[in-house]
Amino acid sequence: MYRGKIFWLVLATAVTTAVSIDEDESPAIGACLCVTDNIVNARNAGGLHGTVVAKVSDPSCYKFKGGIRVSNNLTWYELKDVGGKDSAWVAGKYLYILNDELCAGYCNVGSKWAACMVLGLAVGGEIRLWDKHVSGEIDNAFPYNNVRDTCNGRAAARSHYPCEECLSPGAPGGHICLDYRVLSFIHTLYYYKLAGLVPSVSVNELAGACHSCRSYHYEGLAVDVNYNGTLDLFGLFSDLTRMQDLCDFMGGWNHYDKSHFHCDFRE
Ligand SMILES: [Zn+2]
Repeated sequence: MYRGKIFWLVLATAVTTAVSIDEDESPAIGACLCVTDNIVNARNAGGLHGTVVAKVSDPSCYKFKGGIRVSNNLTWYELKDVGGKDSAWVAGKYLYILNDELCAGYCNVGSKWAACMVLGLAVGGEIRLWDKHVSGEIDNAFPYNNVRDTCNGRAAARSHYPCEECLSPGAPGGHICLDYRVLSFIHTLYYYKLAGLVPSVSVNELAGACHSCRSYHYEGLAVDVNYNGTLDLFGLFSDLTRMQDLCDFMGGWNHYDKSHFHCDFRE
């Protein structure tokens, strides 16, 4: 009973204290910024001189893209994926930072749908989503967990541990929405497998594990697919070329090493 009261108190506090972003605050890239009011102008530049490209209203939330500008005595924040625009700016007095956990319900519906399709393939044994990290660390950020949580409408967990590529601060922890393009890439690879164009589909990492400090994995924009240079059905190494071409075709950027193929959808 007591715990229940605390829960409601915390929830009520979270909902009623939608205090707009303090001008001294710098949210982390990828943080969830939500709109406090109705029909707020989102502009193509940080200031009143910017053209209005969309109108945003409560309750909607967007990922922080990284830009902060002070103009017209207002602090402007750059948001991602606003009304079909890759980037748009909203005055901080109309925004508040939503806790990662609460924000989890705000992931793009396209991601949720794609995640459920991919999860279905994994459960059916058609593709493999790893339920471990290459590093051996154990947390809730395995590819399987990321896809399952996204299918359930939640944000995907990120790992929180350091590695050689990022000794400090290490993988950031918290949560992030998986981009639907990443899931769509995995889903398309499944069709490649059906067509014999790749021998198998095995996903090593999504939002989890520790990578370089500014890795696109932490933004929910990247996937690592197991690749060990095995010959494909035609006795060629061309499965790698096909994955590269697919990633390129879908607008991604890629590289590979001896153990995995990486595809990300940085803007
Ligand atoms: Zn990667």
